[in-house]
Amino acid sequence: MPATILPNSTIGVFGSGQLGRMFAIEARKMGYRVHTFSPDADTPTGHISDVETTASYDDLDAVREFARSVDVVTFEFENVPAATVEAAAEFVPVHPKGEVLHTTQNRRREKTFLSANGFPVAPFRHIKTLDDLHRGVLEIGKPAVLKTAGFGYDGKGQRKINAVGEVDEAFAGLDGRDAILEGFIDFEKEVSVVCARGQDGSFAHYGVIENEHRNHILDVSFAPADVSGAVFAEAVEITRSIAEQFGYVGTMCVEFFLTGSGKLLVNEIAPRPHNSGHLTFGPCVTSQFEQQVRAVCGLPLGSSEFLRPAAMANLLGDVWSAGEPNWAAALAVPGVSLHLYGKADPRPGRKMGHLTAVADSAAEAVAKVIRARSFL
Ligand code: AMP
Repeated sequence: MPATILPNSTIGVFGSGQLGRMFAIEARKMGYRVHTFSPDADTPTGHISDVETTASYDDLDAVREFARSVDVVTFEFENVPAATVEAAAEFVPVHPKGEVLHTTQNRRREKTFLSANGFPVAPFRHIKTLDDLHRGVLEIGKPAVLKTAGFGYDGKGQRKINAVGEVDEAFAGLDGRDAILEGFIDFEKEVSVVCARGQDGSFAHYGVIENEHRNHILDVSFAPADVSGAVFAEAVEITRSIAEQFGYVGTMCVEFFLTGSGKLLVNEIAPRPHNSGHLTFGPCVTSQFEQQVRAVCGLPLGSSEFLRPAAMANLLGDVWSAGEPNWAAALAVPGVSLHLYGKADPRPGRKMGHLTAVADSAAEAVAKVIRARSFL
């Protein structure tokens, strides 16, 4: 059993967005120091960190210097290159480990890992050539979704193929990038399970969270999800089993499609805290970010109990289109909390913050965050 990393030690974080920011808030609350490393300056995580290093992930000298100055490394951004993680791991423990990143940062490797281990996924094919794509569309059927293998999130690098006539253009759009073709799933809803796994194999989860997307970006989440007991049990078991298979340490999220016939299919694994888990920050005894701190430092996981049903609504840059939003009006809704990430430039589609609410039921909590957001 590795030594526990105690408060006053320094946790290094690759990445500097809002996930790192909320992680840093929890880490500092517990008396840890935080050192963030990313190519950017004046970042959401940097604002809360003790030290902010601005360097390229490919600058391995800077990576080694960073790793020498911290006691453990984790990340909030999964597209950190493998060589960067390896360079850091020469000096300090890295959680979750580099192999998990390697698998989950590429859709082809992720889907192959899932299907090889018997986890349910949409039918998919690896696409390298135009022939592969024609054959894939024939075998999988239409509609299908073409996704670049690397750097995909929030629907980026994704395109739906509705007819054979669209294949050539879709392939040209890949621009030589490796891709997968997936069957289009006519799902009833999307759900996720956020969990944490400790260094001793302990496991905690937040049950099933229900997610609504708009333009492929998460819009509203609520917990508990409106699903049957059987779906709940299966979603949690699949998540636990994936974490186990990885020998995972830290907070992880599994996103699922749930079909009308009650079948769960894994869409993606996030090897880090997840947007749908923001509603644990406040409404739960231990947030997904505190679980990450505890797990990477070798401390016992906390209770993931929800104090009350909760909901979250994302605030994209679009909310600023008519000037500064009316924060006072939103905050006047009882039970609503505001989280802003300290980003200066509210570009349309950019995640700037979120609202959470608690209520006696998830439906009521959703109504509150939506009402509060409409006042902005
Ligand atoms: P992703 O970046 O793969 O998480 O995709 C973003 C969103 O696009 C998902 O949350 C779904 O709403 C939608 N989507 C992705 N893949 C599929 C699919 N195979 N079938 C139907 N919808 C999909």
